[in-house]
Amino acid sequence: MPTELTEAIVTGYTDYRDDDRMLTLFSATRGRIDCKARNCRKPTSKLLSCAQPFVFGEFELFENSDRVTVNGCDVRETFYPLREDVDRFMTASVCTQLCNSVIGQDASDEALFSLLYHVLSFLAYTESEPKDLLIAFLLHFLDHAGYRPSLTRCAICRRDIRSDAVLFFSAEAGGAVCAGCPHGGKPVSKLALEAMRRILLLNDDELNRVVLKEDLRAEMLPLLTKSCAVMLGENDKAVQLLDQMS
Ligand SMILES: [Zn+2]
Repeated sequence: MPTELTEAIVTGYTDYRDDDRMLTLFSATRGRIDCKARNCRKPTSKLLSCAQPFVFGEFELFENSDRVTVNGCDVRETFYPLREDVDRFMTASVCTQLCNSVIGQDASDEALFSLLYHVLSFLAYTESEPKDLLIAFLLHFLDHAGYRPSLTRCAICRRDIRSDAVLFFSAEAGGAVCAGCPHGGKPVSKLALEAMRRILLLNDDELNRVVLKEDLRAEMLPLLTKSCAVMLGENDKAVQLLDQMS
C-alpha cells in the first residue's frame, strides 16, 4: 500500500529518540493504528500540531512492510481546552485509553468512535461536569462492549426489581441484584439505577444533558469502575487510571 487517508483521533503516544513519537490512532473505519510520527517534536515539523493527544484529523499514512508512518494530517479538531484543565484532561485520557483497550486493528467501530468524539467535544467545549460525562461515557462504553449492566431485572434470578426496596449492585454478577440472591455486591440506591437507565437512553449527541448530584456521582463511579475492571481485568492501564479517579 502506498499512502492512505483516514479520519482518526490520537488516543495515545510514546516518545522515542529525540524528536520522534509513536502514535496510537483510533480510526472509525480501520480501528487501532500504531504509527510513527518522525521528527514531530521539532518546532518546525509539519506534524507538530497533529501528534498531540485527542487531536482529530484526516491522517495521511504510509505503510511499508507492516510499519505505518504518518506523512501528514489535515487537523479538524484539536480539543485544545482539554490541555488547560487537569480534570478534563484526565477524563479524556481515561476515555481514550479505554478505547485503546478494546479496539482491534483493521476493525471498524463507528459507534465507539462516535461516542468518543462526542464526549471529547463536550469535555472540551461545554461547561458539563467532567464526572457526569465520564459516567455517561462508561455506561455507553460498557453497553457497546456487551457489558451493559442489568438495571431492571436481578442479574442473577432475572426477577423484575423495579418495586424492590433494597437492592445491591454486583459488577461480577452483571448489574443490580435483589436481596434474595447471594452476591458480593454493594447496596445501590433506586435513584442510581434509574439514572443509569435514563443515561443509556440518550444518543451520543445528548450526553451533555447528564447532570448528577455529587452523592449520586460518588455512588455510580465506583460501580462502573468495577464493571470495567470485570470486563478488562484489574491490571488494565485504563482501569487503573479510572480507579485513581473514582
Ligand atoms: Zn435475584
